[in-house]
Amino acid sequence: MSDVQKIYISYNNIHKLCQKIANEILERNERPDIIIGISGGGLIPARIIRTFLKQQGQKNIPIQAIGLSLYEDMGLEDGVEKIGKEVIRTQWLDFGALSEHFDSLIGKKILIVDEVDDTRTTLHYAISELQKEVKEQQVKLNRLDEETAFSIFVLHNKDKPKRAELPKDLMESGHYLVGETVPDEWLCYPWEADDIEEHTRLAKLQGND
Ligand code: 5GP
Repeated sequence: MSDVQKIYISYNNIHKLCQKIANEILERNERPDIIIGISGGGLIPARIIRTFLKQQGQKNIPIQAIGLSLYEDMGLEDGVEKIGKEVIRTQWLDFGALSEHFDSLIGKKILIVDEVDDTRTTLHYAISELQKEVKEQQVKLNRLDEETAFSIFVLHNKDKPKRAELPKDLMESGHYLVGETVPDEWLCYPWEADDIEEHTRLAKLQGND
């Protein structure tokens, strides 16, 4: 018998977490200019939070998807074989669409969205690469004095030691936004459920509705 605890999360629960974080963002007057969803788990929360960030008379916030996958690889660390985790890009920003409709990422408020911060490897990779991307554009366009503001939103942060860090200024300035901090258990999201009725029933039983 497996002793892995499972936490079931319903669509309603996800909807409400997105609404809560959107309200916090709007209260701080920090509506993003663009949302970047990490595919696949970040895409549904990205779309939902956009709804709650919409304000009358304002255009919908554009969403771009980036695809990142985590692979385990064996490597040597101090002569000892260890399993490491490597992030592979499967999809990246659409610069054509960005420059056509949106100028560039320089000077913008950018909200990165994913479903779960587990070891933090994926989020670390995403923000480092996006920051690098912006810096390169700034150098190319000679716009070095403009400030680009990154925020991160995850539905769940697992309370556990992390393998990677996020920028200190982002963490300390309240730009790491968490729907809910959860224990280090396996989270079952509704988009993975074979039987959504049973999944939702279990989520309700656990109070995640
Ligand atoms: P990381 O370890 O880089 O923070 O997370 C990598 C990815 O592993 C997440 O984006 C997510 O797709 C997957 N993952 C980690 N923990 C869970 C979990 O509890 N449930 C599900 N469904 N996916 C998870």
